[in-house]
Amino acid sequence: MSPQILIIGAGFSGAVMAERFASQLDKRVLVLEQRDHIGGNCFDFRNEAGIYVHRYGPHLFHTNKKRVWDYLTQFTEWHRYEHQVLSRVDGQLVPMPFNLNSLHAYFPAERAQMVEALLIEHYGLGARVSIMDLRQHSNQQLQALGQTVYERFFLNYTTKQWGCGPEEIAPEVIARVPVLVDRDNRYFQDKYQAIPAQGYTAVFEKLLGHSNIELQLNQDALQRMRFDQIAGDIYFDGELFTGPVIYTGMLDALFDYCEGELPYRSLQFVLETLDQEEFQPVTTVNYPNEETFTRITEFKHILPDNSTKTTIVREYPQDFDRHDPEKNIPYYPVFKEENEQAYAVYRQLAQRFTTLTVLGRLADYQYYNMDDAIERALSLFEARYAG
Ligand code: UDP
Repeated sequence: MSPQILIIGAGFSGAVMAERFASQLDKRVLVLEQRDHIGGNCFDFRNEAGIYVHRYGPHLFHTNKKRVWDYLTQFTEWHRYEHQVLSRVDGQLVPMPFNLNSLHAYFPAERAQMVEALLIEHYGLGARVSIMDLRQHSNQQLQALGQTVYERFFLNYTTKQWGCGPEEIAPEVIARVPVLVDRDNRYFQDKYQAIPAQGYTAVFEKLLGHSNIELQLNQDALQRMRFDQIAGDIYFDGELFTGPVIYTGMLDALFDYCEGELPYRSLQFVLETLDQEEFQPVTTVNYPNEETFTRITEFKHILPDNSTKTTIVREYPQDFDRHDPEKNIPYYPVFKEENEQAYAVYRQLAQRFTTLTVLGRLADYQYYNMDDAIERALSLFEARYAG
């Protein structure tokens, strides 16, 4: 078939776009995916022990966006799931986000009670407070609490995760995990929280299963494309391609790094299947301080299985390096002012191509959660193509 729409990348951004063009506009869509599987970093599979494993780290779906929830519900049944995280600090397992239960788990009873009363008095029950704000509170006891939580729960974790101190990274990154003035031990407070009942990969099979969509795996799309920056034309397989081109990969790669490389953070995932029913009490335990990994996730807490074994993964953060096969997967843009500026230059280059749409965590250089990526795909599709 000759495609009318070209989509690069089969993660959520690309797959939702493909599904929309195919089902809403009856267009012939060609999806080119670099890897040997669909789903991007959401890819999961059932391993030899019968456990659903997320190959690229834990993905827990949560959203307040009804539109995104309703959209995905067309493609999956849901398994009810609310994510819980403990942080191992000074020999204790303490609920994260740090909340009133954490206070009592970590501090002696008297101090915990005193600080709890202060938190409620100053912020009100149910408040979400950023750790950076708490550290600057005018009340000395609250400031001391902020400082201790910062030092024991955030400082070393963040330094490991990002390869720099918390002060160097955009404050929104750490603010993703607030201090909660309540007893809610859930990691997320969103209205909709669930896992696709047959795993994420099955959702992508449905999204990309439309008869108008052709999927090609193991494709280096950029080898098959040429971007004429002067004319603003895009060529595919040697011919001018005049239809929409949707690109969800790294923007510096799209333009052959002509303005330098954008920094990303990568991870090494070390999987282990153990001959025991359970390894830890909740899905994820964070290890901010003594270890070189940041967290351990035990997958059987996410989707049910009948296994007598358990599979866990440790995450070791590292810099992204496109030349090193151990480090060449970009998981996170690095949220620093200077990187935003370098990114903006690429964004301007992209704007020269009127048929090109870039979106997704990589192409937008944003800290999107899954629902953000889906929302952006749905909105862009409507704004640009469905009018
Ligand atoms: N963070 C931290 N300690 C924790 C959990 C999170 O310092 O126990 C910081 C860290 O900088 C991390 C950020 O908060 O990168 C966002 O955490 P989140 O759990 O959202 O990260 P993700 O799951 O996206 O890797």
